[in-house]
Amino acid sequence: MMRMTVLASGSKGNSTVISSSRTRVLVDAGLSCRELLRRMVLAGEDPSALDAILITHEHIDHVAGLAVLARKLRIPVFFTEPTHRAWVRMLTPRTTMSYAKWLDRLAQEKEARAAAIALETANQLSGIDEPALRSDDPNAVLELPDEAERCEAETPAAKADPAFLPAVEYFRAGTSFSIGDLDIMPFTIPHDAADPCGFVFENEGVRMALATDLGYMPPNVKQAIARSDVLLLESNHDLEMLRDGPYPWSVKQRVLSRVGHLSNAATAEYLSRDYDGGAAFIVLGHLSESNNVPELARLSAEQAIGDRMTLLGNKVLLASQSVPLEPICL
Ligand SMILES: [Zn+2]
Ligand SMILES: [Zn+2]
Repeated sequence: MMRMTVLASGSKGNSTVISSSRTRVLVDAGLSCRELLRRMVLAGEDPSALDAILITHEHIDHVAGLAVLARKLRIPVFFTEPTHRAWVRMLTPRTTMSYAKWLDRLAQEKEARAAAIALETANQLSGIDEPALRSDDPNAVLELPDEAERCEAETPAAKADPAFLPAVEYFRAGTSFSIGDLDIMPFTIPHDAADPCGFVFENEGVRMALATDLGYMPPNVKQAIARSDVLLLESNHDLEMLRDGPYPWSVKQRVLSRVGHLSNAATAEYLSRDYDGGAAFIVLGHLSESNNVPELARLSAEQAIGDRMTLLGNKVLLASQSVPLEPICL
């Protein structure tokens, strides 16, 4: 059994729960902690059963409630290393630092990480399973190198640091990993963030893919999301609405660029030309509230899917910004 519950989707906040019968993860935490918890309960997802949070990229509509939620639930957060660094930088007040000092700090961080990895390897070899010694928690060296107790979520130091997390795990795009019985393949997406990723989750032969926030559909994304049973796909804007809409020219250019967002037309092109037709559900997400209309996005996708809709499922659903989508169970 696998389940996808989209809690929110759009430029004001993104978050989706993916679960198997044994494991439950949250992809992105782009609403306030309070709102995320409220929506989980509303959708019938138990927040206390969450095992981890995965982050696609550091834009605020994907991380707004992250630190508070992770601390409250005391669960690890999975990032790529560049995304984690960008997120920490975003939250850390700017300090002036000489180049020499910066190099020094980089070296210190590298050393600390190597030492932590060595320690973890030693523990693994000796069979000690000690979750407190996670190798990839650079928080401790990033800000307060001498405060080892910062892993205790409730210390005043932890509260003072807006980027403090109970535990950080790193993954790399293109390298699969597992959380509980969920197999996860992160893949690179073209978007203007440090190291943005989409994900494919798999459990007992069921595959669920998430691909939003991408300027176009490159071959690696098409390949990654192939054979999905549920496909959450961006359908951000209608080209004409964007062109004639309220955004300033520079923002329009950004949205339209190769590192912006997928239009209804681009999504339709993927669905008609490249999509294998095998999904039970196609969820359209990250719809712009200014430059799109849900029914326009739906119509565009349904036309592209054409007669495959009745043959093999391919039910088109619309993820909403304001309310959770009915859980999709397969
Ligand atoms: Zn976004
Ligand atoms: Zn983004």
